[in-house]
Amino acid sequence: LTQLYAPLNFLGFIYREIKHSLADMERMFTLLDEPPEVADRPDAATLSADAVDVRFDTVAFGYDARRPILRGVDFHIPAGKTVAVVGASGAGKSTLSRLMYRFYDVDAGAVRFNGTDVRSLSQDSLRRHIGIVPQDTVLFNDTIYYNIAYGRPEATREEVIDAARSAHIHDFVMGLPDGYDTQVGERGLKLSGGEKQRVAIARTILKNPPVLIFDEATSALDSHTEKAIQSELAAISANRTTLVIAHRLSTVVDADRILVMDQGEIVEAGTHRELLERGGRYAGMWRLQQETEGSMA
Ligand code: ATP
Repeated sequence: LTQLYAPLNFLGFIYREIKHSLADMERMFTLLDEPPEVADRPDAATLSADAVDVRFDTVAFGYDARRPILRGVDFHIPAGKTVAVVGASGAGKSTLSRLMYRFYDVDAGAVRFNGTDVRSLSQDSLRRHIGIVPQDTVLFNDTIYYNIAYGRPEATREEVIDAARSAHIHDFVMGLPDGYDTQVGERGLKLSGGEKQRVAIARTILKNPPVLIFDEATSALDSHTEKAIQSELAAISANRTTLVIAHRLSTVVDADRILVMDQGEIVEAGTHRELLERGGRYAGMWRLQQETEGSMA
């Protein structure tokens, strides 16, 4: 019998390992197109902070040395504040989040957490401080409970449910025939884009990181869902250092600072009100969006 069990145990081990690495990949899903190219320095420091201040110091970066993507990008997110980035598709917005998570190293300048260059921190400690709500959350073929608890596997059931409540997904889950035991993902219940994003928000609430990257879904959400997600974003970003990659200007109105990116450069920065008063690029985008919404109403 032992002979039979040994391989089964081993298979179980492999299964858990694969599931875990898939989970790790998922955590960074929309940020990661290829394997990470960065390595820890032998003397890498461990980041351990309750509040994090993020700074991009004249950052230049290209995925390919022949094609620069970011040029001279300089901005600061004080601890607990929210910075939103807007700009045309391909301007380099998501690239900022990939550098913050250190999937890639900058070519010039530095990304700093509490003043320390992220290249001198261990990746593990850096990433423990960051929560990501991606555009399109991939769910595991497992229960909805597992999918939320993944944010902090050692969390108690009560904490998982509290996180689900804060992400406004608890009532939805309780309405399902199997509640938190409902199987979701490819082989289970398919959740809508908004529901999946709420699962990701619940995971992040459970993880409770000081830094948050919120990649707004590009796909059109109905205005009710959009409003709900925006209020959830406001709730989780309060007191966290937040970078919002915004596709709709309505999301950025309340940000402490808005960066307008064009072809890898920050071309305007300020609050919503300041940028409207300036009458430049952002003001033009805002007018256009108002007109489009007006004509759709
Ligand atoms: P969108 O609003 O469409 O998401 P974005 O502003 O977030 O766009 P990025 O995803 O940052 O843009 O991409 C900036 C540029 O970098 C694009 O031209 C893109 O083609 C290129 N790029 C992005 N990821 C990679 C990659 N893994 N390898 C090579 N080039 C890439």
